[in-house]
Amino acid sequence: MAKVKADTLVLILGDQLTPEIAACRAAPTDATLLICEVASETTYVRHHKKKIAFLFSAMRHFAEEMRTSGKKVIYRKLDDAPAATTMTDAVSHAIRKTGATALYATRAGEWRLVHEMEEWPKKLGIDVHLHDDDRFLCPREEFERWAEDRKSLRMEYFYRDMRRRTGLLMDGDHPVGGRWNFDAENRKPAEADLLMPDVARFEPDAITRDVLDLVRENFADHIGSSDNFWFAVTRADAQKAFQHFLREALPWFGDFQDAMLREKRFLYHSVCSIYMNCGLLDPLAMCRAAETEYREGRAPLNAVEGFIRQIIGWREYVRGIYFLRGPDYTRENRLQAMRPLPSFYWTGETEMECLRCAITQTIEEAYAHHIQRLMVTGLFALLAGVDPHETHVWYLEVYADAYEWVEAPNTIGMSQFADGGYLASKPYAASGAYIDRMSDYCGACVYRVKHKAGLRACPFNYLYWDFLIRNGERLSRNPRLAQPYRLITKMSDARRREIAEDSARFLSALS
Ligand SMILES: Cc1cc2nc3c(=O)[nH]c(=O)nc-3n(C[C@H](O)[C@H](O)[C@H](O)COP(=O)(O)OP(=O)(O)OC[C@H]3O[C@@H](n4cnc5c(N)ncnc54)[C@H](O)[C@@H]3O)c2cc1C
Ligand code: SF4
Repeated sequence: MAKVKADTLVLILGDQLTPEIAACRAAPTDATLLICEVASETTYVRHHKKKIAFLFSAMRHFAEEMRTSGKKVIYRKLDDAPAATTMTDAVSHAIRKTGATALYATRAGEWRLVHEMEEWPKKLGIDVHLHDDDRFLCPREEFERWAEDRKSLRMEYFYRDMRRRTGLLMDGDHPVGGRWNFDAENRKPAEADLLMPDVARFEPDAITRDVLDLVRENFADHIGSSDNFWFAVTRADAQKAFQHFLREALPWFGDFQDAMLREKRFLYHSVCSIYMNCGLLDPLAMCRAAETEYREGRAPLNAVEGFIRQIIGWREYVRGIYFLRGPDYTRENRLQAMRPLPSFYWTGETEMECLRCAITQTIEEAYAHHIQRLMVTGLFALLAGVDPHETHVWYLEVYADAYEWVEAPNTIGMSQFADGGYLASKPYAASGAYIDRMSDYCGACVYRVKHKAGLRACPFNYLYWDFLIRNGERLSRNPRLAQPYRLITKMSDARRREIAEDSARFLSALS
């Protein structure tokens, strides 16, 4: 980095690509922005190639955007010498080079970096101003207050408060349409011949092509490929992608939210989490735009309410849980599941068609939609008794939208029930019938979804019962599981033996 004089630096992290981020607002207007590609951020877990390429390209484009708007920017590339192995290294180096006497930063979204930043006032020897990230609607302390003294932290109640607070889909004090939640009208299986839009795709420009070369050279052993890269990497293109979703997909978002089709990877999903999570899109503005689609008659209420609930409800809620539960949350393992993650999670090579599709798509696109994550890859790991920490690391590595604050509660809490029911009121456990109802996977599978036992039976069918029987002591008193446990008490010994033998045979072949 050439010697540049700067009194004040404003550090912008890769997921803080928002011009009005708290640290920028607080710092003097002539402060110099500092943006760094840091080795440890790419390798603390081995992120998908497309995720690294997306973030580096979005960071480089953001730097250009800021320069064009008149800001001074110091940008440090991954291969600039001397190598910055950690964020602290990169910041210390910039302070030495510029002679800066003050640093402004917005607090990170992951405990790992939160702790590193908290050391800076002592370590760096200059004035350090750390600011809370106020791009979220519910500040951390407010979530803590909301959670205090509550017996159960159900998302639905949190969501209603967020509706009241934002005024989204409200008629005065009442929810539009007389109900808070229209989920009962969603969850239709998709038919293959529905006319589905493709996701908005963008040709890589020169900056992105450079980054793709850097990723090919430096991260060859990370999962996925950097070929066929189509993500938006600028604020303007991310906005185009969102407008494309509003026009082409939002009206059907609710109906087919839980559907899965082999040939349609994106269905009616927004594919906007990648842009929101790094700051290219503003979640509240997106919700207001979706509400306008409803108010102006272009999208039905069930779709718009469903979309808004995911963002002001689930997205905010899981972040609240992440910080409330503290840094050890990712180590929770209340069901004491110990199996290593099967190797096919890294290759997609399995005869189970649902898993093959969801994992192959993940390897190719660094994207799978919610039900593929929850009810295919997550469901299998849950039923097979995979160590939830291994599952958590996999999700953090493979998705372009993955940051611990949003990924960990979804994996540890919602999908693996490893927090003992803090986030979800019951495990998302199901047999193959659920996947068959919501997808076209089973027709193309070597396993038979209607068979309950034997070599060709769908593994989800016996693993479901094996999971419940195995975890009977921990789960049988859960009122939401009363019905399956009643069926278990009525099961013959022979049927129980069959389940145990099929499961043991299948699981031992896995390892
Ligand atoms: C095991 C597991 C791991 C997950 N890991 C991540 C992750 O690392 N990053 C991430 O952003 N989401 C994660 N999710 C939530 C959800 O799957 C993704 O947000 C969604 O699939 C992103 O695709 P989309 O933008 O097309 O979403 P859409 O279906 O279009 O939904 C709209 C938006 O709602 C928000 N949203 C929806 N569901 C959730 C949820 N459960 N939690 C938080 N926000 C939600 C997202 O911002 C999303 O962009 C995970 C879910 C599971 C079950
Ligand atoms: S039969 Fe079972 S394993 Fe095969 S696709 Fe259906 S749910 Fe998946």
